[in-house]
Amino acid sequence: MARIYLDHNATTPPSEAVIDRMGAILREEFGNPSSVHYFGQRAKAAIDEARTAVAALIGADPGEIVFTGSGTEGDNLAIRGVAEALEGGGRKHLIASAIEHEAVLNTLKALGRRGWKTTLLPVDESGIVSPDALTSAIDQDAALVSVMHANNEIGTIQPVAELARIARERRAVFHTDAVQSAGKIPIDVKTLGVDLLSISAHKFYGPKGVGALWIRRGLRLQAPITGGKQERNRRAGTENVAGIVGMGVAAREALAKMSDEATRLSALRDRLEEGVLRHVTGTSVNGARAPRVPNTTNISFDRTEAESLLIALDLAGIAVSTGSACSSGTLEPSHVLKAMGFPAHRTQNSIRFSLGSHNTDADIDRVIAALPGIVEKLRNLTRTPVRA
Ligand code: PLP
Repeated sequence: MARIYLDHNATTPPSEAVIDRMGAILREEFGNPSSVHYFGQRAKAAIDEARTAVAALIGADPGEIVFTGSGTEGDNLAIRGVAEALEGGGRKHLIASAIEHEAVLNTLKALGRRGWKTTLLPVDESGIVSPDALTSAIDQDAALVSVMHANNEIGTIQPVAELARIARERRAVFHTDAVQSAGKIPIDVKTLGVDLLSISAHKFYGPKGVGALWIRRGLRLQAPITGGKQERNRRAGTENVAGIVGMGVAAREALAKMSDEATRLSALRDRLEEGVLRHVTGTSVNGARAPRVPNTTNISFDRTEAESLLIALDLAGIAVSTGSACSSGTLEPSHVLKAMGFPAHRTQNSIRFSLGSHNTDADIDRVIAALPGIVEKLRNLTRTPVRA
């Protein structure tokens, strides 16, 4: 059975070019980039080339890119780094949206336990943070605001440029987690007007365990990881050379294909969405349908438990998710759908379909054909028997 992978927001398969180049680096460029000799300088040159490619993906200056060990680490470096740098200054308020990834939410929680005041901005059922919510929450004490560029569960794109402008007026630092938008839609750090932006290679056909944080030149940041002087003192530790080079290759490919791939994927996604809504009763799309990243849809199925549907689809060779990968496998309701104000049953009957480079029309046809029968079977199984 040919399997269909529709979970690209969890992770993507590394591209052939990424795998080839990483293999070559592991074989041939084993030098430590901090070494002065030939071997070290070869590895350093490979990293610098990747830095240029990653910078181009987000409209940044290569000198402002810091490679990290993941998107999670980039979020931590941004938030903890700013908090630590501003700790003595009196500003003790951190603001984020209620629909952030755990990498941001749990970092705020941890800082909250250390005495920082934290505020989570609400969203309505569109799943989009309103600039008015930030205007009401921001005060003289606000040190940092963190709002993601695109949501991982429902794909909605947040009004980051407007939110960043509000933060700037109140002289608060603005961070955006662009892990789910990088490689999918154009990003320009200057147009967005942010101070910090984090991305992760494995979400755009690069390797796992490598990410990048863009730090606006001149921003005060105290690195939480202490050690050597790598990455201009921002991220100590010998660099993951092959991973970084793989991220560079993936960034270059993503930029070259972005426009065509966005058109192709949004057409496939819309077809999937319309097919499901038409052929499966009791279904609706969660969150605003625009602006959204082109590859994502999140659909609720009335009277159907999402985990059971996920398993039944997996048995039929179709891989989807119940929301963020980190919380799948548990029956915890999605914090994103909860924040959007959906009732408990809807936070537990929703499935995320996230499309990617290998998906075809035929895949979408198969999913649309399989779903009605699978859903009906599950609904019949859970229907309360009528007593005579
Ligand atoms: N931020 C968002 C929005 C994500 O979707 C993810 C991964 O799912 C992360 C951060 C974490 O990235 P990483 O898996 O590289 O730690």
